[in-house]
Amino acid sequence: MPRRPRILIVGGGIGGLAAALALERQRAEVIVCEQAPKLSEIGAGIGLAPNAVKALRALGLEDKINAAAYASEFAVIRSWRDGRQISRAYQGDYREKFGAPSITIHRADLLGILADALRSTDIRLGQRSIAVAPNGNGAVARFADGTDIEADLVVGADGIHSKVRESLFGADAPRFTGCICFRGMAPAEAVPRDINTGDVTLWMGPRGHVVHYLVRRGELLNIVAHIDSDAWTEESWTRECDVSEVTTTYARRNSALTRVFPASASWYKWALYDRDPPERWSKGRATLLGDSAHAMLPYLGQPRWRSRMAACSPAPLPAPPTISTPRLPLTRRCASRAPARATITLRRRWRGCAATCAMPGASASAATRPCSRPGGSMTTTPGGSWRNGHGTQGPRASLLSPPPRPI
Ligand SMILES: Cc1cc2nc3c(=O)[nH]c(=O)nc-3n(C[C@H](O)[C@H](O)[C@H](O)COP(=O)(O)OP(=O)(O)OC[C@H]3O[C@@H](n4cnc5c(N)ncnc54)[C@H](O)[C@@H]3O)c2cc1C
Repeated sequence: MPRRPRILIVGGGIGGLAAALALERQRAEVIVCEQAPKLSEIGAGIGLAPNAVKALRALGLEDKINAAAYASEFAVIRSWRDGRQISRAYQGDYREKFGAPSITIHRADLLGILADALRSTDIRLGQRSIAVAPNGNGAVARFADGTDIEADLVVGADGIHSKVRESLFGADAPRFTGCICFRGMAPAEAVPRDINTGDVTLWMGPRGHVVHYLVRRGELLNIVAHIDSDAWTEESWTRECDVSEVTTTYARRNSALTRVFPASASWYKWALYDRDPPERWSKGRATLLGDSAHAMLPYLGQPRWRSRMAACSPAPLPAPPTISTPRLPLTRRCASRAPARATITLRRRWRGCAATCAMPGASASAATRPCSRPGGSMTTTPGGSWRNGHGTQGPRASLLSPPPRPI
């Protein structure tokens, strides 16, 4: 009987576990090495647009995901200056329009559902990879404890500070965008009733915006506040800050907005960095997936679905007799997704510009100045129609398109 391909995934985050699930269903022998002592996620929410829900459907997880998530009927944009509603988009018909709903979910709930669905994957915790190198018939990963693991294919799903990417393609030089974000999570009952409307809400203002939405069946409100500032430059999702820093930052905004901040007991802040879309993310029998391959600014709510789309629809595995030539699927994987990913990365920059320049007097942030706006129309509602119907192939991006004009 032919041998099953052995695939090592470095990183047990959302992208790594989704890939493990897709690969074990293709009868691969899968090992996941995660540096943390347990599989865990921080307390933050994720918006899953219909394309992401479809990817999870392909893994047989849609019912569980829907049961753990929250589906807002409307996506609303409000002015943070006077609180007025700027737009209100109905999302209740997304299943009919796009084939799946738009939902919001707690990251830990999503990771837990993925982990529970794994059957044969060998998960090894406390295993920090320090380097990966392709060799003739596969690739080898070296770990901090001095051990090596060889596999027919090594997938780097080790996030934004990827060691796998660094060892394959060298260190990168991410650019600080001049933007920082604060995030909090509040029990829904602690949120003032006029704010806790059940809508996905985006408050827009000069040089910033704030998004909040319900997760965990409506029990928790996820809040992310963005502001143009260079007062903080650490790219970390786990750096805590005091709520007073958030309330001071947004002190002169509409009180309907600022009353939401104290509802969260803990606040975190991180600086946003930008990376250019990569030209390739595979070398020999080693490849990258998710943030390690294409970390993006979080303006279209798409990074995670990009990792899941990549994870859920890997190029067909080479049949074991042809295991000596798996470069073909990896090359196809690069070729078919590179334009889509470049498009999304550049759209995300443009979206950052749109979100922060929408009000009179606002200026483009450092994040958006050097970027190109890819072709095609784009909505400015939180539930953008472009992303909802988007499959693995994005609209063809012209990387040479003119820069965005502030609106
Ligand atoms: C906390 C957090 C919140 C986010 N929120 C948003 C958001 O609100 N909106 C948005 O659009 N995008 C957001 N993003 C971005 C989005 O979530 C990412 O695109 C997505 O998580 C990518 O998944 P991933 O599996 O590629 O990487 P990650 O989720 O970062 O997972 C990487 C995993 O690899 C492990 N790892 C790292 N290095 C090693 C190593 N050397 N050896 C072994 N294991 C290693 C890590 O411990 C981690 O478990 C967020 C990202 C994070 C981390």
